[in-house]
Amino acid sequence: MLDALQRSVALKACRAYRTVSLHSALILARLLPLDIRVREAARLYEVKRGSESGDVCADRELEKPVDFREMPHPAHTPELGFESVEDLDPSTVDRLAIVGPHIYTDGSKTEGKVGAALTEWRDEMESGNSTFRLESFCTVFQAEMFALHRAIKRVKEGKDRLVNIFSDSKSSLQMLTAPKPTTLWPMQRQDIRDIVAEGRKCAYSGCGHAGTTGNERADELARNAALKKKTAADYDRYPLSYAKKVIRAASLDEWQQRYTEGGTGEITKCFFPRVEGAYRVLSRFTITSPIAQTLTGHGGFAQYLNRFKLKDSPYCACAPDKVQDVLHVLEECPIFGRERAETEAGTGVVVARHGFPALLDDETNRKTFLEFCERVTRRCNKMNGSNMAYNE
Ligand SMILES: [Zn+2]
Repeated sequence: MLDALQRSVALKACRAYRTVSLHSALILARLLPLDIRVREAARLYEVKRGSESGDVCADRELEKPVDFREMPHPAHTPELGFESVEDLDPSTVDRLAIVGPHIYTDGSKTEGKVGAALTEWRDEMESGNSTFRLESFCTVFQAEMFALHRAIKRVKEGKDRLVNIFSDSKSSLQMLTAPKPTTLWPMQRQDIRDIVAEGRKCAYSGCGHAGTTGNERADELARNAALKKKTAADYDRYPLSYAKKVIRAASLDEWQQRYTEGGTGEITKCFFPRVEGAYRVLSRFTITSPIAQTLTGHGGFAQYLNRFKLKDSPYCACAPDKVQDVLHVLEECPIFGRERAETEAGTGVVVARHGFPALLDDETNRKTFLEFCERVTRRCNKMNGSNMAYNE
């Protein structure tokens, strides 16, 4: 029942003929099969509840929003704000934060590895630094948050009356000072309360990327931590975006298997053997009716029209023994010899089924190839007296 429902929607979305199979229609409409999509939503729900998180990432926990019951009472939390010095030049940064040491924080994700760092400066000299490694599935935002967290912890463990903490991530300062808090937040709040209780203070500033020496130093340390640090991860909660990615990948595997093993959609498979590739390529252009006919083989081709009793003969005008299906007209039919030669000259690729996926994958070749497909299919419709707007 789900299939029938989704097939009719998919056919309209991709402008294909009503006879096109579910598999082809879903690929061309870029629609995940409904039952897979439903189970995907259910699994994500389970992950959020924490009941199946081991499934997404062994032994790791999801970075969850803080439960309101874990939040301290607003009356017990110090007012927090941050200064944005983004548009000001370095001399103003210096002028604003003249008292006490500076701590600069940064997070980095490079070549799929994640690191964070803080660097402490006194009298324009680096007086200390720390670097951290985060699991590769962590985001830059998590790295920025972790660096801030450690900076606050460092202030708490020290004796300074006022420390200026800088971050070039405005969003993490917003997270620190305003709600929608996640895992690290309760610890940060506790540290901040402890600092305030001792009559001491942190001042937070967001500074732009083109920053001071301290800023650049933090950036360098974080990048090096990401690339070179080999210790156990200092932080390993995975973000929800990672869970979504893992679940989607499993869905695509399942879809791929169903698509490959399914007995239908043979023509569509010539163009798109992989569902993931199809999803990417099809987002780059709009499917017209002739292109849908090409990509499904269901259209104004003699073989198709004959199969549905709309034409007496399945054979092509080029030879009495050549069945005119979409592969015949694209690959070998001499009627379209000139167009084919032009396409091959333009793309440098032979127009043959094994080359279709590569032709569609390449940005410039795709345009040339689709123009060829569109022209050939339009002419077939005309030759066979087929009504282009059959399904529209
Ligand atoms: Zn022919």
